[in-house]
Amino acid sequence: MKNFTETILIVDDTETNIDILLELLGDKYDVVVALNAQSALEIVQENDIDLILLDIMMPNMDGYELCLILKEQEFTKDIPVIFLTAKDDEESIEKAYKVGGIDYITKPFKPVELLARINTQLKVKELIDHLNFISSYDEMTGIYNRRKFFELGEAKFSQGLDDLYCVMIDIDKFKHINDTYGHPTGDKVIKLVTKSIAEHIDSKAIFGRLGGEEFTILCTHSSKKEVVSHIEKIRENIEKLEILSDSGEVIKFTISEGVACADKDTKSLDELLKKADVALYEAKGLGRNRVIFR
Ligand SMILES: [Mg+2]
Repeated sequence: MKNFTETILIVDDTETNIDILLELLGDKYDVVVALNAQSALEIVQENDIDLILLDIMMPNMDGYELCLILKEQEFTKDIPVIFLTAKDDEESIEKAYKVGGIDYITKPFKPVELLARINTQLKVKELIDHLNFISSYDEMTGIYNRRKFFELGEAKFSQGLDDLYCVMIDIDKFKHINDTYGHPTGDKVIKLVTKSIAEHIDSKAIFGRLGGEEFTILCTHSSKKEVVSHIEKIRENIEKLEILSDSGEVIKFTISEGVACADKDTKSLDELLKKADVALYEAKGLGRNRVIFR
């Protein structure tokens, strides 16, 4: 599973401590060093840190305080923090876990033990990252899966935006593509359609695969005219795509899209999706490869 070198941040105000740790960890990991809490906070902004070794006694801001801040920030809250300190009283240990530390090692430490405990926490983090990924993203396309789409979509919907649009997208006659050319070719079509749509939507849009050949986009636009022309463009781009079947035959494909706008009567995200779905159904009924706005 692992094919990269993890980055460990050492935060300690004593340079000799840092030298010992660098000697021990430098060959195995990418190591970044901070001599105080403030510079540690700057480093985590600019680097992807996989684990932090944190001293407690430091001037200005101590390790406890730094750990609390790290655990409050969305982008740093999941970085495991191991306290590495000379303090060995129960009160200090208890406090370290209370502020969010995941492990506590006292100085002087046994190198083998420190390495093993770092390794354990890195493995746990890797598993958690993997679980987070598979619970949020669609494995085939890399875009949001149904669950994550609804989680982010509900949050967006609850903001009560009056320019919120939902687009339901379906690949036309997809069953026919699968039946005629086989599922691997069908999968290629799904990936290509996803890529094309992803390239043409706003970075703030929430784009997910609801299942099979069905996708949805939740986005904001300044006007109905703007959203329709944008969605129309997505349809045109896909119409131009082609792939080759295993026997070298050129395969073309199209999508149908149904668009709906959230108005004051739209009570839930579900309702908005249903409205867009009705429009999509209409697009299919009218001969596919078209956009219908409801
Ligand atoms: Mg210190």
